Parts: sequence; structure tokens; C-alpha cells
Amino acid sequence: MQSRFFGLGIAKGMALTLKHLFRRPITTQYPEERLSTSRRIRGNELIWNQVKCTGCATCAKSCPQGAIEIVTLRGEENKYIVEKFGVDSGYCIFCGLCVEACPYDALYLSYDYELARYRRRELVKDKEALLASPSKRVSGYYQPEIEQTLPRQTLLLDREKEERE
Ligand code: SF4
Ligand code: SF4
Repeated sequence: MQSRFFGLGIAKGMALTLKHLFRRPITTQYPEERLSTSRRIRGNELIWNQVKCTGCATCAKSCPQGAIEIVTLRGEENKYIVEKFGVDSGYCIFCGLCVEACPYDALYLSYDYELARYRRRELVKDKEALLASPSKRVSGYYQPEIEQTLPRQTLLLDREKEERE
């Protein structure tokens, strides 16, 4: 049905626009402004602890994507030497199954989520690139003792509540 008053629709639209114009923003200005992510974030990188790793390959066997490549040699006392350990993050879906499966706590998911690359080949990480280091932040995913040390997740809802108080 057509409106009886010419321009009523425009006026309604303008009123709605004005209402939203003065409303408190409910989004953040990423990347300038960031909220803390979940402590159990499955960030887009795997972190490998070479010292703890025994080369058992349980992680590779549990990966549904076949994203982990591991080559081992037989060393002294029948222990494995990890010659090659690589992850193709282009195939990885960051499901965390390898982290859960590792019997020696040698694999972690990262706390970072801004690791996109321009080139496909840069997504393939070798042993050196996967090594744990102080600059890499480990996620608390499947690591309760690490989880407790991470900052609490901030939500927009919480921030709004704090501003009101
Ligand atoms: S996180 Fe999932 S997909 Fe990625 S390497 Fe581990 S098991 Fe495979
Ligand atoms: S499951 Fe853990 S210990 Fe075994 S090869 Fe993978 S990272 Fe190393």
C-alpha cells in the first residue's frame, strides 16, 4: 500500500540513520583496537617443542588433513631422532587433534591469529620454523596450566558494562 504522505519513507529512513549515528558503537576498530581472544584460541600456527618430542609420530597419524610430515631415524638405544618435522598450514584446519594426541606435550597451538601469508609456499613450516621460542605465544588449548597464565578474554558486552559502572 502506498503512503499517503509524500516523503514519509525518506523521513523514517533518516530518523533511523540518525538513531544509529549517535548510538554507542558495538564494534571495535580492528586492527587499531583489539580485544583479548579466548585463552583456548586455536590460533593459526603450531608450536613444537623439540626437546620433549620423541618422534613417535602420533600427531601425524591423528591429523585428519595429513598436514604433518615427520621423518625419523633410529638412534642410540632404539630412540628416534627427528630428522624432519613439518606442517603445511595451508592444509591445517587448526582442529587441535594433534595437540590432544601428543603423549609428550610437545605440540601446542599458537595464541596468534594474524599469520596469513601472501605466498602458498610460506605456509609450509619446517622444523626450525615450528620451534618454540619466547616470541611465540602458546594457546591454553588443551594446556590448562598455560591457560591460567593468559589474560582473560575481553568481550564487547563486558566493556559496555564496565563503561556504564
Ligand atoms: S591442528 Fe588438526 S589439521 Fe592441523 S596439523 Fe593438527 S591435527 Fe592436523
Ligand atoms: S606426537 Fe608429540 S612426541 Fe610424538 S612426534 Fe608428534 S610432537 Fe613429537
